[in-house]
Amino acid sequence: MRNVDYVLVRRAALRDLRSGRREKHDVCDAHPELLRAGRNVGERAVTDCPVCGSSDLRLVSYVYGDALRHANGRCITSDGELAKLDARHEEFSRYVVEVCLDCRWNHLQRHELHGRRWAV
Ligand SMILES: [Zn+2]
Repeated sequence: MRNVDYVLVRRAALRDLRSGRREKHDVCDAHPELLRAGRNVGERAVTDCPVCGSSDLRLVSYVYGDALRHANGRCITSDGELAKLDARHEEFSRYVVEVCLDCRWNHLQRHELHGRRWAV
């Protein structure tokens, strides 16, 4: 498994918001589908929302990869589901997005490479 962390991009977005270079509606624009996923299957984030301070910050995972076929682009609802895909496929991507259920802040948190090829 290989990771790319978007912490610097996130920090820059928040800095721009605070300095007024970006508007709140530019960064707090979560799609209804993402909000629904966050509410229903999202994992509770360990931190509060960086924009509004709400504790309703959730992490939602999506998987992408040609080999996934029908699972391509699917939202992951459990660790077991991810483990199954890991065992079954050579390589695919997992994107973890954080979304605030209160102010709709959303941001790509990280990208991970998964599958047998990246198994440790
Ligand atoms: Zn928020």
